[in-house]
Amino acid sequence: MKMMEEEVVIVGAGIAGLATAVALQRLGIRALILEKSPGLRATGSAITLFPNALLALDALGVAHKLTSLYAPFKMVLVTNVETGATQEISLAGNGATGLRAGPRYVHRKTLLEVLADELPSGAIRFSSHIDAIETQSQEGSTIAVIHLSDGTIIKSKILIGCDGVHSIVARWLGLGEPVNSGRSCVLGLSVFPDGHGLKQEVRQFADVGLRAGFVPINDKEVYWFLNCISSPKGKIMRADPEVIQREVLENYVKDFPEIYKDTIRHCDLSKLIWVPLMFRYPWGIVFGNLRKGNITVAGDAMHPMTPDLGHGGCAALEDAVVLGRHIGNSIIKNGGLVPRAIAQDLDGYVQERKWRVTWLATGSYLSGWIQQGGSNWWKKILRDVFYKFLIPKIRSVIDYDCGKLPIVPSSSQLDSKKIE
Ligand SMILES: Cc1cc2nc3c(=O)[nH]c(=O)nc-3n(C[C@H](O)[C@H](O)[C@H](O)COP(=O)(O)OP(=O)(O)OC[C@H]3O[C@@H](n4cnc5c(N)ncnc54)[C@H](O)[C@@H]3O)c2cc1C
Repeated sequence: MKMMEEEVVIVGAGIAGLATAVALQRLGIRALILEKSPGLRATGSAITLFPNALLALDALGVAHKLTSLYAPFKMVLVTNVETGATQEISLAGNGATGLRAGPRYVHRKTLLEVLADELPSGAIRFSSHIDAIETQSQEGSTIAVIHLSDGTIIKSKILIGCDGVHSIVARWLGLGEPVNSGRSCVLGLSVFPDGHGLKQEVRQFADVGLRAGFVPINDKEVYWFLNCISSPKGKIMRADPEVIQREVLENYVKDFPEIYKDTIRHCDLSKLIWVPLMFRYPWGIVFGNLRKGNITVAGDAMHPMTPDLGHGGCAALEDAVVLGRHIGNSIIKNGGLVPRAIAQDLDGYVQERKWRVTWLATGSYLSGWIQQGGSNWWKKILRDVFYKFLIPKIRSVIDYDCGKLPIVPSSSQLDSKKIE
């Protein structure tokens, strides 16, 4: 049996876990990440990063590594498949430049690697399986004790669950299980070795019960998605990418414009996935136990949401910065990471995040409901209104700035402060 002691343990090396570890690293705190997979795992090929995510990445000091690779998008064209009518919607604020110029579509793997590259070697312990989590009282405060299946026991001043939708840390906190929205999403990456020749714009297609789109990530690769009502065949199809591709082309998008179908025909089958869309009820976030003792959650573990606003990962990056800021301020105030003070500081993080992520999760669900609405006349009107008037209004959500990390004095400066 191996015993270890850590300042901070993070469960999960996804967007939330890696970003949180980078935030802590900037504050001079080494965090150990426990990841159950044998390596970094990117589910899906690409992800939309809106200005709020880029501002968070900037606070973490890595935004430039992505903005140098991926250009912003200024325009989305939404086509009503039934009528053929197309609406143009601006994605950039008037005159917006730099990080606010518009969303960027980045390879998920690149995002994870950019974050992981900031961490010291050994910061991620891959193939770590957690058997149990418990807490112990120590000198008037609580510490987390994590039991791994290889017999290792880790004691930590802080435990942060960044272990995704089916988080065991969220379950330990007593948060409600995520629910299935009844909708699914197919995600793919298509490769055109001689170039796709598409313009630098996002295309979307709306039809009864369906919402689809594609976006060129670079000269040769196109990221595409299809949101649909879950089919009883979904479970079987998930196992075989060829069946997914055939089912999408023959049954879901056969009336869609050729430009979309051609994208799907060029799909790299190894990157094709079909996933059910899960979310947590808003009241489960607002009234749920998002912190107990020195244990909390971030990312999908806190706020699983449907991807209709493309914001789960963006919100995870915001979480990392806000959590880092509260921990950093605690270090500055107390001259170090003092277990007795941590619960209160984690509460500050929870209070700052819970309403924003609740609105994001609720807004995402409603936006999916409207965009994928049925054939009723009022649902069609609602959809048109959504694209014409509501999308521009959502700008304040996507332009949100979660703030910066504090500058924490070096440990020798903190020690001299403690002596004073
Ligand atoms: C179809 C779809 C499209 C999306 N599109 C977008 C988008 O365009 N923009 C956007 O911002 N968001 C988008 N999202 C949401 C986004 O993917 C998630 O919000 C984001 O990945 C959450 O990151 P995370 O780190 O919290 O969780 P995850 O990415 O799920 O990472 C969790 C990590 O924890 C590990 N783990 C799990 N359990 C354990 C355990 N017990 N022990 C150790 N490790 C564990 C996993 O292996 C994984 O590495 C989309 C989601 C879906 C489903």
